[in-house]
Amino acid sequence: MARHTGPVCRLCRREGDKLFLKGARCLTAKCPVEKRGYIPGQHGPNSKARRAKTSDYSLQLREKQKVRRLYGVLEAQFQRYFREALKKRGVTGAQLMILLERRLDNVVYRAGFASSRPAARQLVSHAHFTVNGHPVDVPSYLVKGGDKIAVRDTSRPLTYWKTLVEEKEAPGTPQWISPDRQNLSIIVQALPTREQIEAPVREQLVVEYYSR
Ligand code: SF4
Repeated sequence: MARHTGPVCRLCRREGDKLFLKGARCLTAKCPVEKRGYIPGQHGPNSKARRAKTSDYSLQLREKQKVRRLYGVLEAQFQRYFREALKKRGVTGAQLMILLERRLDNVVYRAGFASSRPAARQLVSHAHFTVNGHPVDVPSYLVKGGDKIAVRDTSRPLTYWKTLVEEKEAPGTPQWISPDRQNLSIIVQALPTREQIEAPVREQLVVEYYSR
């Protein structure tokens, strides 16, 4: 369950896009992408990387890194997702996105039970959830249509969950999941289609990167 442990805002700045890894802070003017929208590094806006011409390879590499960082997946695991996507019928890029979207930490985030994917990952790995009644503490667990995710009975008295119950439903919940804040549960209605996945990425570039 390895994960990136360095400063996460640098990842957004490197990709030149907001990856929303820090919850509420991402929506404020304190977001470093808003304040310093150039590649991180000691040479600042004049760095060599910033001035370099963009080749096809660099576009593909950056898009691959962006998707990987968006979902908080390290390279080896990301390659496993790609190999899995290749085996599936349909468009490989779309299958890759669907696999990533099925991760339990992503579903918890999409349902509005955590303010960011890293926060959702922590909630899952701290064993706050069950899937179909069984405790699951693996963030990469892939949900299926019909699965019921629920906060464990032993976790419910925690202030975090009491506060969440009192908050309004988060807007923009995807159609393929049905969160129930009052009961602290989420039903996976069906697996998502690519059209239902809100992610500002061009996954075809990722496919091209691994097909070189
Ligand atoms: Fe990325 Fe959020 Fe940091 Fe902004 S505040 S750079 S969106 S993690």
